[in-house]
Amino acid sequence: MSEDGCRMSAVGCRKTANALTLPLVPTVLPTSVFRHPTADIRLPSSATQFAAPLVGIVPYPPPVPKRGDRYGASALCWLCGGETGGVGWPRDAALPSTFASHNEAAVSSSDAVCQPCAAFAVGATWQPVAARLGLKTWQQASWRSYSHLFAAPSQHECPGPHRWREILLEPPRPPFVLIISLSAQKNLVFRALVAHSRDTFPVLMETERLIVERRQFRRCLTDVEAARAAGAGRESILTGRWHPAAMAKMGPPLFRTTDGIIKRWRRTEPQLLQLATHVSRRPQTEQTKRPEQPVPPPATVSTPTTNMRQLELF
Ligand SMILES: [Zn+2]
Repeated sequence: MSEDGCRMSAVGCRKTANALTLPLVPTVLPTSVFRHPTADIRLPSSATQFAAPLVGIVPYPPPVPKRGDRYGASALCWLCGGETGGVGWPRDAALPSTFASHNEAAVSSSDAVCQPCAAFAVGATWQPVAARLGLKTWQQASWRSYSHLFAAPSQHECPGPHRWREILLEPPRPPFVLIISLSAQKNLVFRALVAHSRDTFPVLMETERLIVERRQFRRCLTDVEAARAAGAGRESILTGRWHPAAMAKMGPPLFRTTDGIIKRWRRTEPQLLQLATHVSRRPQTEQTKRPEQPVPPPATVSTPTTNMRQLELF
């Protein structure tokens, strides 16, 4: 097998209900799901199930109820479609009344939410991870407050746009998960897909799932940065509404060339253009150059598991 591992599409790697026959034994999480990804050909079936053990936030069992069943009965997670191993949370206990993305449920007939999805839904699991990464955090902060890169065996970063540029041009060794939050308001991890190739890989940009072909992304980024170097603003690149001052600065020939190149991307690959524009750098002129700032090494997390109660929800 190549470095890129399995060449199945991210969607194709997702398990289907018909492919699973796990017994409902409420003992421990299924080891096949949480085994090191490179140690077995069987990969986690969802992004949350890939990422949760990587950052050490599972096991995350539901509390023992005063009455009724502790675990949801369904074998598949309502939210991500991954296996619950029979130890998922009852759906109503895992999701708050404010949860509004019911139309995004992967298995609408399920009554269970897997422990990784439940863990990523709460701020209580985020706070110790943020502390280890040295990130700014606050009482309401949660996983939704940052973008995330998860890569086996233990890499976790919360990149900003410039770091995303590096990651998209040179992704980590698969498998990995890329989640770019634009609003910092939405729970995104369960929406993401696990990447299995460095050349063609899924990127979750807010709620949009993009399949990025790396060479095409590089071409788009090159064109965007050339446009920015010529004086185009991000908004003009995305909308095609040019500021008269920018047009005058370029002059008619350069403006026509720049507008024509960007227009083609806008028409054919608008989401890729948005991604490239988001992470693009504006080349600095000699007058505006500042001393190079040292780039901090990628933050990594290799943590013990936690077992915290659900304090904050989506
Ligand atoms: Zn799940």
